[in-house]
Amino acid sequence: MLNKSQFKNNLVTWFEENQRQMPWRETTNPYYIWLSEVMLQQTQVKTVIDYYHKFISRFPTIYELSKAHEDEVLKYWEGLGYYSRARNFHTAIKDVYESYNGEVPDDPQLFGKLKGVGPYTQAAVMSIAFNKPLATVDGNVFRVWSRLNNDDRDIKLQSTRKAFENELAPYVQEKAGTFNQAMMELGALICTPKNALCLFCPVQAHCEAFEQGTVEQLPVKTTQVKKKHIKQNVYIIKNTDGAYLIEKRTQRLLNNMWEFPMFEATGDESVNAQLSTNIQFQHKPVYSLKHQFTHITWDINVYLAKTQVNPQEVTLSENMVWMKLEDRENYNFPVSMSKIYKFLITNS
Ligand code: SF4
Repeated sequence: MLNKSQFKNNLVTWFEENQRQMPWRETTNPYYIWLSEVMLQQTQVKTVIDYYHKFISRFPTIYELSKAHEDEVLKYWEGLGYYSRARNFHTAIKDVYESYNGEVPDDPQLFGKLKGVGPYTQAAVMSIAFNKPLATVDGNVFRVWSRLNNDDRDIKLQSTRKAFENELAPYVQEKAGTFNQAMMELGALICTPKNALCLFCPVQAHCEAFEQGTVEQLPVKTTQVKKKHIKQNVYIIKNTDGAYLIEKRTQRLLNNMWEFPMFEATGDESVNAQLSTNIQFQHKPVYSLKHQFTHITWDINVYLAKTQVNPQEVTLSENMVWMKLEDRENYNFPVSMSKIYKFLITNS
C-alpha cells in the first residue's frame, strides 16, 4: 500500500513543522528522555511537564537520583499515580550508576534488562536518545498503523504488537527517534480515537482506512479486561491533640505510601475490631470516592470516629503515627488519600 519513502517524508516533515514543544524534546540527555517516557506512561503531557521540571531540578543527574532515599523520590512523584513506575525507575538508575558508570547504556539489550524497562520504553529511549533502529508501538501507533493499513487484527494480542514492530522496522533504519515521535504525535493530534482529523492529515494519501471509510471502526480491540471492584472502608480517627491516625502501607499496592486506616469492607461495617474495640464510628459514610487502578477500582467509603482518642492511652503499631493536618507535606499520600485529606481540611 505505502510508498515507504514518500509516506515517511510526508509524516516527518509534518512533525518537524507541527510538533508540540515539550521540555524533553529540547534535550539529548538520555536520563531526562527516559524519565519523561516513564512519567508519560498512563499520564497526560500537560500533567507531566510540571512534575518533570521539579524532578530534574531536585535530581539533575543519575548520581543524585541514585543516592536519594525512596521516600523522597516518591514525594516528587506524589499525585502522578502508578508509583511502581517511580520505584522501578529509581532501582534502574541505581543499577546504571553502579554497573554502567552512571551512563545510560546505549545497547538496547542491556538497557532492556533494567528494572521496569518494557519493549515500549526500550524502543522509545533507545531511538530518541541514541537513534537505535527500534519502532515504538504504543496506543497511538497501534491506532495509526491499523488505520493506515486498514488492518483489523486485535491490538490486545501480543502477536499483533510483534507484527507491527516488524512492519515498522524498515521505517526506523534512519532517523528512528524522529519517525517514532512523529507517529505518536500524529496519533495524539490528528489520528485521534474519535473524530479523527483526516482532512488535515499529512498522510491521508497513504491511508487505506480513509479510502475504505473504516476509520471509526479501527483499531480493533476485542479482549477488554473487566475491572474488579473492591469496597474499602477508611476510618478517620482524631486524637485529643487534634492529630489524625495514619498508617504506612507495606508489602502491597501503593507500598510505602501513607493512608488513613483502610480495610476491605466485610459487609458488617459495625465491626471494626481490627482497629479497636473501644472506638465507635458513625454508621453513615461522610464521604465516598472511587479510585481507579489498571485492573481494579476501589469504591471507598470514609467513616468518622464518634469519639476522640487520648494518645497516651493507646500504643500504636510501628507503621502508625498521629499526623497534624499542617504536617501533611511530610507524608507521601496516594491520590485517593489526598482527596480525603482535602475533604478533612475543608470540613474541619
Ligand atoms: Fe488517521 Fe485519517 Fe490520517 Fe488515516 S487519514 S492516518 S485515519 S487521520
